[in-house]
Amino acid sequence: MSQRTGRHFLQIPGPSPVPERVLRAMDMPVIDHRGPEFAKLGKEVLEGCRAVFQTQGPVVIYPSSGTGAWEATIVNTLNSGDKVLMFETGHFASLWRQMAARWGIETEFVATDWRRGADPSIVEAKLAEDRSHSIKAVMVVHNETSTGVTSRIAEIRQAIDRAGHPALLLVDSISGLGSADLRHDEWGVDVTVSCSQKGLMLPPGLGFTAISAKALAASKANSLPRSYWDWSEMLKPNSNGFFPYTPATNLLYGLREAVAMLLEEGLPEVFARHQRLAAATRAAVQGWGLEVLCEEPSEYSPVLTAVLMPDGKGADAFRQVVLDNFDMSLGAGLSKLADKVFRIGHLGETNELTLMGALSGVEMGLGAAGVRHQRGGVLAAMSSLRSGRDD
Ligand SMILES: *Cc1c(COP(=O)(O)O)cnc(C)c1O
Repeated sequence: MSQRTGRHFLQIPGPSPVPERVLRAMDMPVIDHRGPEFAKLGKEVLEGCRAVFQTQGPVVIYPSSGTGAWEATIVNTLNSGDKVLMFETGHFASLWRQMAARWGIETEFVATDWRRGADPSIVEAKLAEDRSHSIKAVMVVHNETSTGVTSRIAEIRQAIDRAGHPALLLVDSISGLGSADLRHDEWGVDVTVSCSQKGLMLPPGLGFTAISAKALAASKANSLPRSYWDWSEMLKPNSNGFFPYTPATNLLYGLREAVAMLLEEGLPEVFARHQRLAAATRAAVQGWGLEVLCEEPSEYSPVLTAVLMPDGKGADAFRQVVLDNFDMSLGAGLSKLADKVFRIGHLGETNELTLMGALSGVEMGLGAAGVRHQRGGVLAAMSSLRSGRDD
């Protein structure tokens, strides 16, 4: 491999590139996590998270990956033998379901073709049928990172309410938070699950659960044994800015900075930027004569775009050509989609020019790998960005 110059293009949909401001904020001595200086940091990040999750309620921060926060959600709110409604929107929904099943939870798993999100009308119909209220929760992945499809969480809440059903709404917004609008309180989400290394622009290592009053009450009534993930153990010391065990101190410095960046830009502006970059990416895909995996325009992901390879060409060989020639990492197809799609991440720190660099790398890569395509995707993306600015 030749000598690399400049920065690596990390265009996978998480981990996303960490801004220099965040890296510098983490470059700090580790402090006493039981001391007064820590309490101030703890209070600031716990408060800052509320703003990002758009909630007045508590957000619990674990030293964990997103998978840990998935488990925290299950063990606090559900018990073995409970029934839940889930949607097979892709790889991550399938993994969350597998985890629930391992906890002895009975999962009704509504199939999709991995090209659309969870259907609110199916939520309504299934809950309306469930007169005995045996379904304890509806569990949905907000932004399905394996497919580039975003489920309509506000509409799913409305569907639950129309059915007059008490099920909890548990949402994986691991790759949505900080990139796609997610209003924990306004949309009546009971638990929003997230982690650090996607829209929050941090290194991996933090998991989050935002908790509604109803979910907190469910956790208090739940008799499933739990310890490390127990919300009540966390919330007691959190009220003074502390944690029950050693927190990931330096990631919390980074979190404070990342939250400040999101709030300085303004959440509506952050979401609009992601939408603009996503629209430009889809314009490029169309310009190349290729196909976006997501088939439902109201569910296009602002976070990433999954692109189908033409003519049965291998996506992994193409991604390798891009990596070797242009030092750019694109996302791989996962499980069912392995080798069939590549994924372009356009989240977090990405701006118009980094996106244009990434799309240029894809277009040159298609040429270098001998993949059938039309030229002009990059030009189409530029036009899309220009018209987005004129709005
Ligand atoms: C990344 C991701 C996960 C898994 O998070 P980890 O930090 O790898 O444990 C789960 N769900 C979605 C939607 C994701 O994008």
